[in-house]
Amino acid sequence: MEHTRELASFYDRDLRLTQFSTRLSTARSGNISAGASLFDIYPGIATGEARRTVDKLLATRAPTIIKIAATPHQEMEVWVFPADDGIGLIEVANSPGRAAEIEHNKLMYQANHDVLTGLQNRQRLSDRLKEILTANDGRHVRSALLQIDLDDFKSVNDTLGHGTGDALLKLAADRIRGVLQEGDSAFRYAGDEFAIIQYGKDPSEAESVAQALVDAFKIPFMINEMPLFVGASVGIAFGPQHGTQGEELMKAADIALYAAKGEGRGCARTFNRSMMLLIEQRESLRRSLRMALDRHELLLEYQPLLRATGQIVGFEALVRWDHPEIGRITPNVFIPIAEADGLMDEIGRWVLQEACRQAMTWPESLNIAVNISPAQFLGGSITDIVAQVIDSTGISADRIEIEITESVLLEQTVDNLDTLNTLNVLGVRISLDDFGTHYSSLSYLKNFPFESLKIDQYFIQDVERERKSQTIVRAIIDMAHGLDMIVTAEGVETVMQAQWLINEGCDVLQGHYLGQAMSSERARKFASKASASRRRRERIN
Ligand code: C2E
Ligand code: MG
Ligand code: MG
Repeated sequence: MEHTRELASFYDRDLRLTQFSTRLSTARSGNISAGASLFDIYPGIATGEARRTVDKLLATRAPTIIKIAATPHQEMEVWVFPADDGIGLIEVANSPGRAAEIEHNKLMYQANHDVLTGLQNRQRLSDRLKEILTANDGRHVRSALLQIDLDDFKSVNDTLGHGTGDALLKLAADRIRGVLQEGDSAFRYAGDEFAIIQYGKDPSEAESVAQALVDAFKIPFMINEMPLFVGASVGIAFGPQHGTQGEELMKAADIALYAAKGEGRGCARTFNRSMMLLIEQRESLRRSLRMALDRHELLLEYQPLLRATGQIVGFEALVRWDHPEIGRITPNVFIPIAEADGLMDEIGRWVLQEACRQAMTWPESLNIAVNISPAQFLGGSITDIVAQVIDSTGISADRIEIEITESVLLEQTVDNLDTLNTLNVLGVRISLDDFGTHYSSLSYLKNFPFESLKIDQYFIQDVERERKSQTIVRAIIDMAHGLDMIVTAEGVETVMQAQWLINEGCDVLQGHYLGQAMSSERARKFASKASASRRRRERIN
């Protein structure tokens, strides 16, 4: 600002002057000071086209430089561009040389900024990291890199489309801008990945910015009048301590980010060396998951579903991975990896085939419930797979129950409808899993023929004493029955919970109290014992 020959000035969101070049001050005989209104300095902008351009730039933050006439008589040209939390302005004399220079600056600006959000881009991030890590003649100044990842962005993008995804990214960029402190800069360096650089500050400041960010993302985003809950996870790394090269620092922040995700997302973590172990484990899991199917390391367990009368309805197939070194791994750990690596189709096909093959060894009255992940459902081949499995195992279609989650139905696309209707035509039943925890927009309940609805265990765990859970569960049971659907309660762990649910008219129960997930061998025994006792009861009656 002291040395530039530009007549440059910067303004905050309220268009109050924050910084200006000495040249501008001289040109105005020292008559300007911080806090002054943009319109005092450039009265020609206060109204008309120029004013609209400024307002639009403030709202959209499009990464561009726009030329405006600052006086009605075009005597002076001003270029405006988004800067920090507000805008910047440069006054230009109308010489051809200056015009070329400004044009060059404009191109530079566009090369360094992300078109969608107006934040600086990946190129700029790595340049900036290089700058700060090599500044001060090799003496390192403390700096912090925060990497930010949106927690459910992929599912929003997949289910609601890219238009909504883009709108969400813009709003996310605004929230990130909102937590920046003086001197911080923000970047978008990949799809839903953002970064903040802090320079010359105390590490505790980076951590407080990270926390502010996590908190800011707890408020839902409103898009097309629909609230979307998309949290943020943050990984923090400090230079030079965790890296003296840009790439090294990014790797460290990325590892911290992964740790934050692993700890339930929606939180911030600072890099430490022991996190490396976690990454190595995940990498090795990824590699071995590719081979797990061929090596017969995946297996299914079966958890019984029982009617309120105690009569067995069937089993839910739950996949597990018996890793040769690590031991048994739960689906919550490896299914996200399988989805990210595109392995879910293959695993899902195997699960369905194997589950139906087992069900053929049970009494014919018993159903088999199989979970289908959103990626699988939206992938497009699910109907073919179901048809093939029915064909190859000879199972009667109405014994198969497909469990999907509400997030699959977030958007009622033609494809979604087609898939559901085809499954329906094939004769399989469809149930809604984990009901109440995703986007319960309910309209789909009117349009799709669901067989049953599974109330998420979140509402069941305290249902025998928590009035709020009771109210919710009661309402779900009522609604489902009104729609001729069967209601299943998941995660029933105590006799009190079971009794309460049966009293309220819940149709089917599932949970540790009634039976844990068990091997195929034990499931077969469980099934034959249950049907034997039923026959006995029937004879007595
Ligand atoms: P889910 O479909 O909601 O399955 C219920 C989960 O709750 C299972 O965990 C089950 O073991 C657990 N559970 C059952 N009763 C109780 C109880 O009384 N208390 C508690 N605390 N938990 C109980 P699991 O097997 O770890 O599966 C987790 C999730 O992984 C499943 O949730 C399902 O979404 C997914 N999953 C499992 N198998 C498959 C599969 O073959 N394909 C796909 N796409 N997803 C699967
Ligand atoms: Mg399930
Ligand atoms: Mg469930």
